[in-house]
Amino acid sequence: MLEQRINELFGDDDPSGFGTGWWSGILASFFGVLALGAVVCLHFPQVLTSPELRSYYPMPVMRLLIQGVIVAALVFGVASALLRRKKILGLTGMLLALLATLLGGSSVPINESLHAGPAIGLDWFLLDMLLMTLIFSPIEVLWPAYPRQSVFRSEWLLDIGYFLSTHLPIQITSFLILLPATQLSAYFGIPAVLAAVGSLPWLVQVLLAIAVADLCEYAIHRLFHTVPWLWRFHAIHHSSQALDWIAGSRSHIVDDVVVRAFMLVPMMFIFPHDIIVAYLFFVTIHATWCHCNFGPTVRWLEPWLIQPRYHHWHHTSEKAALDKNYAIHFPWIDKLFGTHYLPADGSWPHTYGLYKEKLPAGFWAQTFYPFQRRKAKAAVATGTQA
Ligand SMILES: [Zn+2]
Ligand SMILES: [Zn+2]
Repeated sequence: MLEQRINELFGDDDPSGFGTGWWSGILASFFGVLALGAVVCLHFPQVLTSPELRSYYPMPVMRLLIQGVIVAALVFGVASALLRRKKILGLTGMLLALLATLLGGSSVPINESLHAGPAIGLDWFLLDMLLMTLIFSPIEVLWPAYPRQSVFRSEWLLDIGYFLSTHLPIQITSFLILLPATQLSAYFGIPAVLAAVGSLPWLVQVLLAIAVADLCEYAIHRLFHTVPWLWRFHAIHHSSQALDWIAGSRSHIVDDVVVRAFMLVPMMFIFPHDIIVAYLFFVTIHATWCHCNFGPTVRWLEPWLIQPRYHHWHHTSEKAALDKNYAIHFPWIDKLFGTHYLPADGSWPHTYGLYKEKLPAGFWAQTFYPFQRRKAKAAVATGTQA
């Protein structure tokens, strides 16, 4: 298995705290991959960058960013190679940075005039990966809920695969996810409601939008747990045996599209476009944060805003908490419908993943899994879990 090979090749049993060369090695390799990917994008912008995003790039800033990740890969690579007994992480980072530089680095000129058309969103994958890592990885490293959980935890590569799967075909995924909402709103938008809501203070509109979205999300999420054929799609999101920010991206495309449509369509009737965009930013950050391996919890805020401990209980395989905590923003929605579960002692789950159910391994097997006929043996397994 590829993941096992990578873990053996790059991992070791030495301590992984600060000053051991572990994190500098991880960062060197990570920045090396980003640097090489970005330089390849500069060479083939027509096929590897999404036309929808190109116009938003200030190219001088992008080139500076590419230069920054090349330098970072080299600096962290040297630090790791000096500090750690096993040099491969540091050397990989330096090698990738060197390769990116030899291919022209940040100064590769873009000679062709770019036009719209089919393209792979490698630029979007690299940028979002960098952004999410910068936001969430430091808090996971500094204040983990499970300090012994490694970056090379089980199935980390699978989750990067899921992250890739929604970012590379950005033209298809954004079309599938936004189309139902935009199309229907053209027919069903209610001008009087839009005007009335639009006259409220901005913050009130956003809070109202979060509440409406979460109520819709609650309904469809609960259906995904209770209707057996829908559960087969959602089971994939629940198959993670350990949670961190990237585990949140493990989700079947049908699950993603249906949930987004269920939230966005009703919102389009009620809220102006800029509020919906603000909500989309909020949900991306908040939902990702809820999956983080992040220990601190603001206890007085727990009844009002979902924090990682709450959503972690949604992912447990412990029987008492199965099919609980469906809300993604506001815990009081679960209280309202009797599906709230949060131990008062501040504890975290001991086990994660599916309850008495096993999914096939690998991205493609999991993608086709919900469409396959249920075998006699699988039918015996419990249909749902949280
Ligand atoms: Zn989740
Ligand atoms: Zn769920």
